Amino acid sequence: MGRWTPWIAAGLAALAAAGPASAQQGFGNPRLDEKNLRQVSPHVWVIMGFPNVGFVVGDKAVLVVDTGLGDPNGALAARVAQKLGGHGQKLILTTTHFHPEHAAGQGGFPPGTEVVRDKAQQVELEQDGQKMIDLFASRSAEMGELLKGATVGKADVLYDRQTTLDLGGVHARLYWFGAAHTKGDEIIYVPEDKLVLPGDVVENRISPNIICDSCSPRQWIAVVDHIARLKPELVVPDHGELGDGSLVAQERGFLADLDRRARLARSAGEPVDEAGKRIQAEMEGAYPGWTGLGNIPQSVQRAYADPG
Ligand SMILES: [Zn+2]
Repeated sequence: MGRWTPWIAAGLAALAAAGPASAQQGFGNPRLDEKNLRQVSPHVWVIMGFPNVGFVVGDKAVLVVDTGLGDPNGALAARVAQKLGGHGQKLILTTTHFHPEHAAGQGGFPPGTEVVRDKAQQVELEQDGQKMIDLFASRSAEMGELLKGATVGKADVLYDRQTTLDLGGVHARLYWFGAAHTKGDEIIYVPEDKLVLPGDVVENRISPNIICDSCSPRQWIAVVDHIARLKPELVVPDHGELGDGSLVAQERGFLADLDRRARLARSAGEPVDEAGKRIQAEMEGAYPGWTGLGNIPQSVQRAYADPG
């Protein structure tokens, strides 16, 4: 903390201005709005929305983190990136994970945009991306409209565990630390600003959503521990409110508590469905102000299934 406190305050103010759609995970307004663009650190801007879309602006290139849902949102994000750059910098796109509000707007980016992501995410995107696009498209008429023609995108650069982008005066380090929310979660760290864009892996008082069936609280904790080693001072999650570096320990604390409760229940032989309901009720009491705790029974299932 300290150095960027004014930026954090600005980010939090941005959130208040952005309204309730950004205050919870789930299905906020799926149309990004340039009005919700805020600068949160010397090189980083965010459009607060569903999801929060990040921009890391350098002299040579502008990195866009996530596309928004469907090509119209992707096109808006690309326009905003070009405006923020201001002198024709190269456009680079990366996506935090394969879910449609993060990756299914790639077709809206102009030709020549360089797309970079981790290999695990590309594999997951190609396996399950279209299925998820179809699922999201069926959720509402507006989502269907936004996702019209959306396809699974290719990448120009794929990396295994880490790559660094020199954007000119600022860098973005892209990491794959393992599975957490999905198998292919990417974490983006901007060392000059001590800022992390952790996708859905660290959020602000939102119950972690352990989606992939081989994911578990234990594996998620391991990824959070990698993020903690980066010592970020500012955290820009993909959903919900921004925060300072304390969000990382807060996320870990919640996951460790959940994991401990699930392991105790498993070794006591409690049926998984009962344990899920009970632990959800207990954690609702223990974590006032948190949202999304309806996913705890699923998390308990994942913990029961985890051989580790
Ligand atoms: Zn997601």
